[in-house]
Amino acid sequence: ERSYVYGEERGTGYGEDRGRARACGGGGSHPVGQARAGASEPAEGESAAVSELMEHEALRGVDAKLVEQILNEIVDRSPGVGWDAIAGLQFAKQSVREITVLPLLRPDIFRGARQPPKGLLLFGPPGTGKTLIAKAIATDSSATFFSISASSLMSKWMGEGEKMVRALFAVARAKQPSVIFIDEVDSILSQRREGEQEGTIRVKNEILVQMDGASAGGVDERVLVVGATNRPQELDDAARRRLQKRLLIPLPDAVAREQMLTRGLRDVKHTLAAAELAAVVSTTEGYSGSDMTGLCREAAMGPCRDPGVERLLLNGELDELRSVCHADFVNALTLVRASVSAKELEGFEEWNKLFGSFS
Ligand code: ADP
Repeated sequence: ERSYVYGEERGTGYGEDRGRARACGGGGSHPVGQARAGASEPAEGESAAVSELMEHEALRGVDAKLVEQILNEIVDRSPGVGWDAIAGLQFAKQSVREITVLPLLRPDIFRGARQPPKGLLLFGPPGTGKTLIAKAIATDSSATFFSISASSLMSKWMGEGEKMVRALFAVARAKQPSVIFIDEVDSILSQRREGEQEGTIRVKNEILVQMDGASAGGVDERVLVVGATNRPQELDDAARRRLQKRLLIPLPDAVAREQMLTRGLRDVKHTLAAAELAAVVSTTEGYSGSDMTGLCREAAMGPCRDPGVERLLLNGELDELRSVCHADFVNALTLVRASVSAKELEGFEEWNKLFGSFS
């Protein structure tokens, strides 16, 4: 069964969760792995899913509370992102598929000289589809999808960070094939800074150790770590080495932008002729995928902002609302600008030349 774990999307803080677990379990912390070795009865307050998983060898000695927390943070059992949902990026999609999905599905073929990398870095401007790619990998390979971000690791898990990382990788091993997606990986695995907190350093080291463990796991180990960053320059050397494949995810080209526009307008009535669409496509050179999404949303709101439309919006029929037209885009283009500067782009190109796998 597929499951998808998102570390960052739970509203509750870790402290709260822990409190609740204790309230239900009644027993505080207990080394479940050892105390209940061989037992199949769930401990009080522990879900059947956790108990079943705790029987797995990979989880020996891991605190059941942490495992439960990791499992509880499943918010989306199906990210359901197909490769088709990602516009453009043909080359990236092809290479990512080859080095991730196929090996996750067929570890028996992809071994020895065909052994794939255990770490993949997607870098490039924000809003270009890095997260979408990670979700597509998990969807396509039916892998368990764990998603953590720097903010959740460093704030919510503070204090427990190291143990949490260890538990996360253990759960990933128990539920493999797994994809561990680390968003903003630069801030988790950045170069040492003056005055950095001890806890942060320990979490960092633990991730590196666990990533080594993942690659030492050999044939049977199907845990892939995917990191995403808009600031690859900040990455620590040790982290960079472990993310062996490093792929630049660039801004969308004209063909991709056209796809994004057509898809963005799929659900609304519009009157844009081919030439008008082409004009928008060429004006949006330098826009990211998320800029394009924002632009479509802004333009689609045009008809809802006409003078006197209020009455219609409250009481009228959908049909009465006018279609989105080229003028709405012209207007939206003044409001939604390209969010990535030429200078930033140059930075990515340079880093790609130095460290990219496909430069
Ligand atoms: P990031 O590269 O920062 O991880 P995301 O993958 O989260 O960016 O993309 C943010 C949003 O922008 C997506 O939810 C989607 O609406 C849009 N988007 C970005 N890139 C693409 C793309 N290549 N194809 C389709 N939509 C995209």
